[in-house]
Amino acid sequence: MDFIKLQSILKEIGEPAFRYRQIKDAFTKQFVLDFKNISTISKSLAEDLAEKISPLSFKAEKILESKDGLSFKALLRLSDGAVIETVLLSPLPGRWSACLSSQVGCSLACRFCATGQGGFRRNLTSEEITDQVLFWKNFFKEKKLAGKFSSLVFMGMGEPFLNWPEVKSALKILIDKEFFNLGSRSISVSTSGIPDGIKNMAREFPQINLAVSLIFPNDRQRSQYMPVNRRFNLNQLKKALTYYFSKTNRKVFFEYVMFKGLNDQAAQADELIEFIKSIEGGAKLIHVNLIRYNAASGGFSPSDAKTTEWFKDYLKWFKDYLNKNKVGATIRKSLGEEIKGACGQLAGNQ
Ligand code: SF4
Repeated sequence: MDFIKLQSILKEIGEPAFRYRQIKDAFTKQFVLDFKNISTISKSLAEDLAEKISPLSFKAEKILESKDGLSFKALLRLSDGAVIETVLLSPLPGRWSACLSSQVGCSLACRFCATGQGGFRRNLTSEEITDQVLFWKNFFKEKKLAGKFSSLVFMGMGEPFLNWPEVKSALKILIDKEFFNLGSRSISVSTSGIPDGIKNMAREFPQINLAVSLIFPNDRQRSQYMPVNRRFNLNQLKKALTYYFSKTNRKVFFEYVMFKGLNDQAAQADELIEFIKSIEGGAKLIHVNLIRYNAASGGFSPSDAKTTEWFKDYLKWFKDYLNKNKVGATIRKSLGEEIKGACGQLAGNQ
């Protein structure tokens, strides 16, 4: 919803100032998606507005649901014809999370990622980003899904920090009491490792969660499979994270997608531990999420369950030894594989 446009239309047609607030609240607090469902305005005003402005900046062309009913993927057609995908899933019983896209495609071309293989088309506007939230909040309500819609993650198509002005503006609207009023801590932004973006997050949104798709713990493999590492290597990432920790003292999540025989051996576990240890505050503040790869493209295979478990225990042993606590590494269940809505599978074409 373009709220600036809505406000100027209401002014033009001579509606009192409070009308804007009524309508804005209906969208951002009650997640209504149709003017005629707003109980506080007249039928004629609802019809007039419906002709002048569309509540969403895209049309949902298709919504796929997994057999277990725990994940949904929507294919959204934007006004210029471009297509993005966005996902709603339930990672924990009774908890729902929307996975948002920030760009149409992605320029970073990670070799294991369907989005990256499709190339980059354009940045999304902040309206196109916040509309994904509105869309899923409405869907959640209409579908009467059981549980709580508890979080948002910027882990869909695109690198959020390469579209920072629009992502930043979307984040502001999402946490603004006058608009969506969501808790900062219920939102996570995931990056492939753009140092300036990490620093911006530390300064501007210290309460919003940060995740880093680390995936490979050494420059050689990272540069081979994630070309972004040729521009911003692990040393630069380390410096940015040191800065982040000094400003926020908050936990950062390393996303570590596990590929059979590539990054799931003792050598990589040791490198990962060394990398974490080398970051000031890292041993205390980094939590590793292990995710078995979802076969998408490029001929990679997922690590088997046993190896993934072993890798987790290896990391946890290190954490226990260092911190005397039991946190540090978790195996994250991958959802949405069959609807191609899992990490790295969003391609915008099905
Ligand atoms: S993994 Fe993320 S950063 Fe890499 S190509 Fe895919 S969307 Fe882009």
